[in-house]
Amino acid sequence: MALDSLHDLYVEELKDLYSAENQLLKALPKMAKAASAPELKAAFTEHLEVTRGQVGRLETIFADLGVSPKGKKCKAMEGLIEEGKEILEEDGEPAVIDAALIGAAQRVEHYEMAGYGCVRTFARLLGYTKAEKLLQATLDEEGEADKALTELAETVINIEAEAEGDDEEVPAQRNGKTSSKPVRK
Ligand code: FE
Ligand code: FE
Ligand code: ZN
Ligand code: FE
Repeated sequence: MALDSLHDLYVEELKDLYSAENQLLKALPKMAKAASAPELKAAFTEHLEVTRGQVGRLETIFADLGVSPKGKKCKAMEGLIEEGKEILEEDGEPAVIDAALIGAAQRVEHYEMAGYGCVRTFARLLGYTKAEKLLQATLDEEGEADKALTELAETVINIEAEAEGDDEEVPAQRNGKTSSKPVRK
């Protein structure tokens, strides 16, 4: 499709986000399954629900435009998920794997934040007030998801991950497992 107008670009980028979100709908359950900390599992499961709503918002916007949401594959999200899969295939200490999952998830959130920030601004310029509000709502949710992951990393996961490398037992560990032997197969 030729990008002859800001409207063309707006539609192309919305399609990219629609593809990105749908790829995430498939990836998030796998990330939740791979997470060990219950708080992290819950964060991924919650964001799965939020993501369903985001797909719904995009469908509303496309319906209003009278355009199909399909026809584009977000290669960046494909790559981010591909990289995330490398973590799922790794053996290691649960808290370290969790820290890696948070890093992967935050890369996804930041990609989405950049995308939604752009289309929100395009919608504003094009005078699509309803779409602007819907896209802002999603942008806010992506920001909240990112913040929640930072909070989890800084208060729990990274601290446990750091302790995994120590030789002595660390009382703060989950499941009463000792830090000296690998517990994840
Ligand atoms: Fe999203
Ligand atoms: Fe993309
Ligand atoms: Zn994308
Ligand atoms: Fe997200």
